[in-house]
Amino acid sequence: MTEQNRVAIVTGAARGIGAATAIRLAADGYAVAVIDLEEAAGKDTVEKITAAGGKALAVGADVSNGEQVAAAVDRVVAELGAPTILVNNAGVLRDNLLFKMSESDWDTVMNVHLKGAFLMSKACQKHMVDAGYGRIVNLSSSSALGNRGQANYSAAKAGLQGFTKTLAKELGKFGITANAVAPGFIATDMTAATAERVGMGFEEFKAAAASMIPVNRVGVPDDIAHTVSFLVSEGAGFVSGQVVYVAGGPLD
Ligand code: NAP
Repeated sequence: MTEQNRVAIVTGAARGIGAATAIRLAADGYAVAVIDLEEAAGKDTVEKITAAGGKALAVGADVSNGEQVAAAVDRVVAELGAPTILVNNAGVLRDNLLFKMSESDWDTVMNVHLKGAFLMSKACQKHMVDAGYGRIVNLSSSSALGNRGQANYSAAKAGLQGFTKTLAKELGKFGITANAVAPGFIATDMTAATAERVGMGFEEFKAAAASMIPVNRVGVPDDIAHTVSFLVSEGAGFVSGQVVYVAGGPLD
């Protein structure tokens, strides 16, 4: 089997890093399932892929809901084929300092990032085991190293690193690799929302971030898509259980 007949799932692919990754994987030759909360939200990504000659399907599902995940993966199998590539990218922020963080802020972030990656990986792994081939990439973050105002998010993103390494150990013998990509500052709606929360214009916020990044710019979604493209490629079969920081320089 080659990229030309493999099926990839990217979650949270309506916009931002997920959309760029879905578009890149389609350009690499995969048929791509664009999963997001609302099916309609994924149409734009699907249209970009099909306009460029690729194959894609928009599927609506909340990755933190087991029934919706099972139904979504079944639909991908029926309409595109069995998925052997999974990119767990869907994410949300509920930032606040610990003393102001609500239980629901904690649960929402844990559910989308950690439970979502667990449910999606579990639903897809049987297809990968059947195929004797698979690639799982989980979106962690530089915040896994600790970030003020993100007790929930940093815990979830650090948790995803442990999850990734465990999947690598459990699934390696079936030809499946699992890796994490940990982006630094990437310009998306998510970082725009953070700028708004801290009361800064997005341009000013990006310039301040860029001044602290060795390559002197903030990241763009394609920086992450490019890294994911490598990790899911057939040639990356000996790279597993790794966390690749994509942050324009080393992190302290
Ligand atoms: P984004 O622009 O906010 O996009 C996230 C996407 O995930 C949205 O389309 C969102 O849908 C979807 N989503 C949220 N909850 C979902 C759920 N329960 N089920 C399915 N889809 C859901 O975010 P981004 O900046 O591209 O980030 C993508 C990933 O990279 C996230 O895991 C994030 O934590 C990680 N990351 C980002 C950065 C950065 O600097 N941007 C840095 C490090 C890590 P709605 O639009 O309906 O909410």
